[in-house]
Amino acid sequence: MEELNIIQGALEFSTKKVEHVMTPLPDCFLINTDAILDFDTMTEIMESGYTRIPIYEKERSNIVDMLYVKDLAFVDPDDCTPLKTITKFYNHPVHYISNTTTLGAALEEFKKGKSHLAIVQKMTEDEHRYEVLGVVTLEDVIEEIINSEILDE
Ligand code: ADP
Repeated sequence: MEELNIIQGALEFSTKKVEHVMTPLPDCFLINTDAILDFDTMTEIMESGYTRIPIYEKERSNIVDMLYVKDLAFVDPDDCTPLKTITKFYNHPVHYISNTTTLGAALEEFKKGKSHLAIVQKMTEDEHRYEVLGVVTLEDVIEEIINSEILDE
């Protein structure tokens, strides 16, 4: 029953953490900061179907920027524009969230409206640095509330 599902989702909502609903880093679609926006790269981005793409430098766990697909509206693949030209121009902030943040707290963050995607990070055992675990979006959180999958169009 739909209603029961929603009630169950709502009850678990305050205790569940973002690490339970995030997309793990190995499954994330990321782009290297040194990429060139040629036909192949732009096709790959369009075919990924994602609207927000974290940009990494050297290692996939080292997120340095964000690219939104709409940033590409005025980019001509024939110009072979370096990705950095675009990311420097738009300069979107990278938002981070702790793996232990509850879904309720994450929803509050997303409601502030800066970005609907956050990079999930975890403090290492020695407590000296953070480790990137994946990405979480408003959609991941909403899916938990309604307790059912939102199918992308
Ligand atoms: P989009 O608008 O790109 O479809 P959504 O916010 O609707 O993204 O999220 C849909 C799902 O895709 C969520 O499970 C989210 O964690 C995941 N997701 C969003 N961006 C990426 C990405 N760049 N790589 C991998 N998964 C992503």
